[in-house]
Amino acid sequence: MSSFLSLDGVRITYRGARERHTAVDNFTLMLDAGRIGCLLGPSGCGKTTVLRAIAGFEPLRAGAIFLGEKLLSSATVHVPPEQRRVGMMFQEYALFPHLDARENVGFGLRRQPQAQRDARVAEMLALVGLADAGGRYPHELSGGQQQRVALARALAPAPALLLLDEPFSNLDSATRERLTAEVRDILKAAGQTALLVTHNEAEARAMADRIGVMHNGRLAHWNDIPRTPEGL
Ligand code: ADP
Ligand code: MG
Repeated sequence: MSSFLSLDGVRITYRGARERHTAVDNFTLMLDAGRIGCLLGPSGCGKTTVLRAIAGFEPLRAGAIFLGEKLLSSATVHVPPEQRRVGMMFQEYALFPHLDARENVGFGLRRQPQAQRDARVAEMLALVGLADAGGRYPHELSGGQQQRVALARALAPAPALLLLDEPFSNLDSATRERLTAEVRDILKAAGQTALLVTHNEAEARAMADRIGVMHNGRLAHWNDIPRTPEGL
């Protein structure tokens, strides 16, 4: 298993009224460490289902999911979500409105000693360019700033893999364009391996090192995007 994330012949089905509906079928993908992959496809093609399976919220009917050398999912194996070291950032995954930015970012670090946690929160807020906004509540932040706090919250526990499900869909197009570039820079600065799904081709091209097109639960054209060399 040379790739960091690998999905091999994955099938995922949902229970329908009369029979099981196959949402994802014969799905194979490999992503190296430190790279950003992107699945592009129309609504309903199975993007969220793939991410939920990687995160451990959907069982597999067939195939396997590996992270590094570790088998996370197969038809007979299912590592629980909290043991996967997989982080998620969802478009509809709003910040906790009654917590300020600092408390939102620290949410996943509740078991750490206070000093260690404070240092990590400060580091993450600085990473997303919000070092001075820690005391602000979500309603005091713009949509783009809220998504950067959500990104800091997802990165804070240092997940081995970050999943992003249409994270920019709720934003206006100017904010989306700026934030897409910023988030790519942040992920690269953190050396974060990430898999993003979207129905927006410009967003996919701006973010990804490697891009695949999804259609009816299957993946086609899982190819590198040519880019000028960049330092990590
Ligand atoms: P996308 O994220 O690309 O819009 P989804 O992964 O959400 O697509 O959905 C893929 C297919 O699986 C769709 O046909 C959808 O209706 C179906 N589906 C998704 N979630 C469920 C569920 N919980 N129960 C039954 N069918 C579902
Ligand atoms: Mg979806």
